[in-house]
Amino acid sequence: MFDLLKQACEIATREGCRFADARYLDISKQRIMSRDQALSGCNDSEDSGFGVRVLYQGAWGFASSPNYQAAEVKTVVALAMQIARASARALREDGVNWAPEAALKLNFQSSCERDPFAVSLEEKADLLVSANEIMLQNESVKRAQGYLMFKRVQRWYVNTEGSELHSDVTSSESVIWAIAVGNDDFQERNWKAPSSNRGFDAYDKAEFLLQAERVAAQAEEKLSARISPEGEFDIVTDSENLSLTIHESVGHATELDRVMGYEVSMAGASFVTRDKQGEFQYGSEQVTLMADNTLEHGLATQGFDDDGVPGQRWEIVKDGVFQAYSTGREFAHYIDEQRSRGCSRADHWSSIPIVRIPNLLLMPGKQPLSPDELIADVKHGLYFEGMDSFSIDQWRLNFQFGGNAVWEIKNGKKAGMLKAALYQSRTPTFWNACEATCDANHWQAHGVMNCGKGDPMQIAQMTHGAAPTLFRNIRVCRGRDS
Ligand SMILES: [Zn+2]
Repeated sequence: MFDLLKQACEIATREGCRFADARYLDISKQRIMSRDQALSGCNDSEDSGFGVRVLYQGAWGFASSPNYQAAEVKTVVALAMQIARASARALREDGVNWAPEAALKLNFQSSCERDPFAVSLEEKADLLVSANEIMLQNESVKRAQGYLMFKRVQRWYVNTEGSELHSDVTSSESVIWAIAVGNDDFQERNWKAPSSNRGFDAYDKAEFLLQAERVAAQAEEKLSARISPEGEFDIVTDSENLSLTIHESVGHATELDRVMGYEVSMAGASFVTRDKQGEFQYGSEQVTLMADNTLEHGLATQGFDDDGVPGQRWEIVKDGVFQAYSTGREFAHYIDEQRSRGCSRADHWSSIPIVRIPNLLLMPGKQPLSPDELIADVKHGLYFEGMDSFSIDQWRLNFQFGGNAVWEIKNGKKAGMLKAALYQSRTPTFWNACEATCDANHWQAHGVMNCGKGDPMQIAQMTHGAAPTLFRNIRVCRGRDS
């Protein structure tokens, strides 16, 4: 599989390129959906092709094709060269400053004990429909739905520096949800089996059925939940809820391409300017956020990135202080770093790599602390579980997040459910209000499978992890009036 990719790089070298790389991808996807007692859809797709990127006189050229043949490889390199030559004429500065990287030979395989594409449709359907049937046993639940999603990406990568890399990564995701109707209202409650780079072995039917019963009961309970109070409260977030807040307020904010203005036209900028590195108090001393593209089962763990840089582990925030960005080889020089952090990823053979959020984890507390003990320390507050609607501004500074289920906390105990609750804050205010996070026994990983960035838009996946965490005096408001 490497031969034609090597030929592409050889042609680019003869044309005078300082650097070139070529990728071939083979992508399989399956999505199975259920609605009440039946399957409502099953989509399978297979897709393969290659892309060639050339760096010529400081400017990029990129072209791609689904037709992986010798003649087509020559045509694609010629087109990439044509684009690079045209771009080189329009450069206003010296052009791309490309960080060095040693040649690498690597074969990475994600752990997949049961290949989801080899599991029968009957077994997958049974998992979803059985969960739906349990949810529908609750009389308030008028609709039960779910899906399973599997993705396998095989990738071959070659560059002019002599790297020859292969990865084979299988990812899985599943969500079930119940919609309850009554009390002049309707409410949805879901359970996400944490998405990860694992196979069908990630799923257990007994767990699905237990969770189905729980979400059905909580969907019903949400119907009679009282409308959230407004004001300043202590809030406790569960792992899943906080994983989205980590993603939006830290992950995107610390992408160096965004900081440098490369994403302004579409995804936005960042308040985490370069002068803040090593000094800025991003959060309280309890907050250590670790980037880890070597995390087992992590959705961004794929051995190496699409610049040919191996996965790495580093602190983005340590004991509250901002330490380092996520970078690719094109961006490291902006902060005088010699080497890329290996975050440059493309979502398809026809996409160019851009800086993507790594697996990003809030490290658990060092002292033994359970969720009950955390809540016991709250006189009047709110407990947020799961994800709901959110918004954040283009500087990644002002935000609001809801929860899929929210409880009031009174005198150190979870009291009744609330609806329409949102927490609203500024990124540094919020993270500096972090008082405690539970210990490693209560830490969980969750995944984001649909992170959109770039223009044209690319979709990436990454893991975020956290333990239940307490934030003091956060503004709570209502997502609706009554
Ligand atoms: Zn995102």
